[in-house]
Parts: sequence; C-alpha cells; structure tokens
Amino acid sequence: MGMPDAVKKCETRHFINGEFVPSSDGGTFEVKSPYNHETVAHGMSFPYSSPSSPLHPALNAHPLLHLVSEATTTDINTAVSAAKAAFPAWSALSPAARGAHLSRLAGLIQAAHEPLSHLDASCMGRPVSSYFDAASCASEFSQFAAEGWLAQGSSSLHTPGMLNLVLKQPIGVVAAIIPWNAPVIMFGMKVAPALAAGCTVVLKSSEKAPLSNLWLAMLIKEAGFPPGVVNVVSGHGRPGGEALASHMDVRCMTFTGSTATGRRVQELGAKSNLKRVVLELGGKSPSLIFPDADLAKAAVETQFSMSLISGQVCIANSRIYVHESVAEEFQAAFAKAFQEKKRGDPLDPTTDQGPQADNIQYNRVKDYLEAGKAGKGKLEFGGNVVKMEGGNGFFIEPTVFTNTPEDAKTMKEEIFGPVVHINTFKTEQEAIEKANDTEYGLYASVYTEDLSRAMRVSKALEAGSIGVNCTSPARGSDMPFGGWKGSGQGREGFAGYSLENFLETKSVMIKVSEEVKPVAVAAHLQ
Ligand code: NAD
Repeated sequence: MGMPDAVKKCETRHFINGEFVPSSDGGTFEVKSPYNHETVAHGMSFPYSSPSSPLHPALNAHPLLHLVSEATTTDINTAVSAAKAAFPAWSALSPAARGAHLSRLAGLIQAAHEPLSHLDASCMGRPVSSYFDAASCASEFSQFAAEGWLAQGSSSLHTPGMLNLVLKQPIGVVAAIIPWNAPVIMFGMKVAPALAAGCTVVLKSSEKAPLSNLWLAMLIKEAGFPPGVVNVVSGHGRPGGEALASHMDVRCMTFTGSTATGRRVQELGAKSNLKRVVLELGGKSPSLIFPDADLAKAAVETQFSMSLISGQVCIANSRIYVHESVAEEFQAAFAKAFQEKKRGDPLDPTTDQGPQADNIQYNRVKDYLEAGKAGKGKLEFGGNVVKMEGGNGFFIEPTVFTNTPEDAKTMKEEIFGPVVHINTFKTEQEAIEKANDTEYGLYASVYTEDLSRAMRVSKALEAGSIGVNCTSPARGSDMPFGGWKGSGQGREGFAGYSLENFLETKSVMIKVSEEVKPVAVAAHLQ
C-alpha cells in the first residue's frame, strides 16, 4: 500500500531536553518493513551521517533517506542530565498541574490513532485492523492525570508522645526500556505513572519499532511539557540500553522485554547504584479447558490469544491443556478459527495476520518449528513459513502441535509466534501440575462452568493474572499486572501499584510534648 505519510513526517532524532537532536556521533540504524523489506528508515554509519559531515544536511533532507538516530553513551548521559535538571521543578508541581499536561497529551494521542498505527504497521508488521494501542496509551495518560493525588503516605499516633508521618516522595529520574511488540501501549504504561508520581523520564524504545515512540515525543513537545521532563531515545541494547541500566543518576529502571535481557538489566542495576528495578518479562501461559466449559467460546478465545500480533504477545496462551474427553471437539473448533486468517499487508484494514516483526524473530520461530517437528509431539497443521504471492514477508503458518512431552524445548521456551501446543489431561490435579511446570508465571486461564473448581484452580495456578472463562489479552484496567517466577518482579497497571514503583518512602517522627501547662489552661478558662 506504499509507505504511509506518517513515516515521511515522523521525527527520527532523539528527543532530549525538549529538542530533537542527532546522536553525538551521528550514528543511525536501519528499519525495514517485515512485510515487503522496503526501507522504512535508512541506517548510515559514521562519518557519513555525522552532523559534522558536509554530507549530513543533504542526507537528512533527502526524502528517501530517513535516518533513525542510534543512542550512544554520551546521548544517554545527556538525556539523564536533562531529566535530572528537570526533576526539582516537575516534582514540586501539584498533582493537578502535572495532570493538566498528562490530560493534554492523552487528547493528542487519542487523535493520533492513524499515524501511530501506520508507523507500527510499517516498522514491525502490526496489522492496523486490530490496533487499539493509541486508545490504550491515551487512557493511561488520562487515568494518571487524575491519580497523582493517590501518592500519599499515612500518619499515626500509636507511639506515645509522637506524631508519626509516613511520606511518599518521587524517587527521581526514571529510566524505561521497552520492547517492540506494543511500543505505544508500553510507553503509556511506563511514562504516565512515572510522571504522575512526580518523576522525570528517559525512555529507550526498541530498535525494531522506534518511530511510533518518536511520534509520541512530537506530541509531548506539542503538549508543552517542560524541557527534560520526558526524553525519548532510540537504539539498541548496546550501547544505549546498557548505559541507561548502569547509569548512576537513574533511581528506578522499569523494564519490559525478554527474561534474558531482564536478568542483564537487573545485574547492571545491582553493579551500578542498586537502582530499583521493575521487570515485566516473558511468558509461556497455560490455558486449562475442563469438560463442562463452553468449548466453542474457549476455542475462539484461545486461538485469538495466539493470533493477536502473530503470536508475539507476552501473555499469549501458548500451552493449552484440554480434558481428554473433549479434546477432539475442542481441537476441531480451535483449528477452524486459528486457520481462518487473511494474511497480508499490515497496512491493509482487511488483514488479520501480519508478518513476524523482523528476520530475527522469523528465524527464531522457524528454528522452534524445526525443533517441534524433530521432537516427539505430533504436528497437527502448519509448521512452515508462508511464501506470499508477489511478496517476501516474514509470514509463519498458524501451527498446532499435540501430545508434546512436557520437557520438550518448545514447551519450555517462549516461541513468540503463532505456534501453540495442545496437550490433554485426565484430572484437575494433573492439569494444575502441568500448567505450573514452567519457569514463567505471567498469565493463566481456566475454562469451566463450575465456580468451585474455577476458584480452586485459580488459587493453585502460579501466575500474576488468571482469566476465568476468558483468556489473554483480557485484563482489568483497575487491577495490577505482572509476573510470578521468571516472568518478572513488581506490578504495573493500577494506580496503587504503578505509582508505588516510582515513590520513595520516608518516616518522619515528631516528638510532641504531652504536658499541659497550668498557666495556659488557666488563661483559656478566663
Ligand atoms: P528484548 O529483551 O530483546 O528487548 C527489550 C528491550 O531491551 C529493547 O528495547 C532492547 O533494545 C533492550 N535491550 C536489549 N539488550 C539489552 C541490554 N543488554 N541492556 C539493556 N537493554 C537491552 O525483548 P523484545 O524482543 O524487544 O520483546 C519481546 C519480549 O518482551 C518477549 O519475551 C515478551 O514476552 C516480552 N514482553 C513482556 C511484556 C510484559 O508485560 N511482561 C510485554 C511485552 C513483551
């Protein structure tokens, strides 16, 4: 459908201290469409794209040469310094004054549905047909515009002779590192609560999907935020991400991404200044289908969970356990819905399934398909890449394996593609044990009409969120979100939890004299 206007109009430089600036060494990186491999943004390396190069203005002005800046350690230092300088004034504002900025931004994001959807479709293949990310991000900003007031401590008179106050204060500069699969949603989940708490932010987007975050930076400028309050940099994990994770002036790192990178970010935080680290990581989420469940509904919903963004969702129910008595019926309904997908250009509003995000993701899923086919499970359908007519996009067939041994690699590791394992169980206990036999614990679901069983199973499942007669992406916006075990630490999502990530706690003890002076009493009685 051609390169959308938003790509041509989008800023490609870092947003630091209220201005768009190139990288300190002029470095840039390339972004290609995973649908047709067209260049969305060109990458040119030093010295050709250096600001000091005589070629630089010409390159930047060239309509086809769209250069996304790659953050250096110097850029990270500059961005953190800007956030640190902006912190005293921003944290001193009332929640209402900060909220006014957040509200304005929410309105601008809501109105930017089209460009944001086009940018994510172009960079990482997210189909525009199911794009709810701008609405979700806008709703984070409008929610937290009102919730800064909730950053409150407590008081007590329980210690004789003392008035005790517990104060909540913004922690300082917050760094956010986010993945590519939902860049606009992630931006809202990190930045909105941090700003509402009174913190200033440096966010590094993913190298696979930098443009929608840069569009959000354009909206931040338009909304009139003071310089330095929000800084948005683009680039890879090295050097930019690591420089941020190691920075001595960053007091809280909120990270969403893979478990392996989360571990590294935690390590860098510990080695530098022991900054607080919040981790939202990977998943291998189970869905349990009991014989009394509404099987048709369960099949449609569990396949949708695996189809959304071509299976590239942290909470996708990639392991399904169905009672053996209804397995055949469930699998038939699942297969029908899972295979009925229109593959194509993610910019086309009639497309259901887009490509995997890039060649790295595509090759990774291909490797898992080979491992699955070589293993002891049965390939029911799929298992191949898709050759599109007239195109060379990174498409993978929706794939189902059944009866795979629980210890198989593909049962244990996150595939991040439209690949699902369906296994059977005989008893409730067996289903729970299999569901919990994983190092992940992000989301789990249970389908049954028996309320007692639903509650027993929900209690036994080791996951941060449980869907009963619903599955991911279903979530409650007034509930915390996060993972057990290797799926993370800390919670996001609801004011009481998200705000807490960005607050320090201080105890103030005030000694109060309990003695009532007789002179004062006498004076009062006269
Ligand atoms: P990733 O871990 O490869 O990258 C995530 C971010 O970390 C990117 O911005 C990347 O540039 C940066 N990064 C990479 N190496 C780094 C390093 N050494 N130091 C600092 N930063 C570094 O993950 P991804 O491929 O972008 O995203 C997919 C993963 O994210 C999946 O595992 C998925 O389950 C997870 N995810 C989790 C949630 C959640 O809420 N739990 C939501 C979305 C995605």
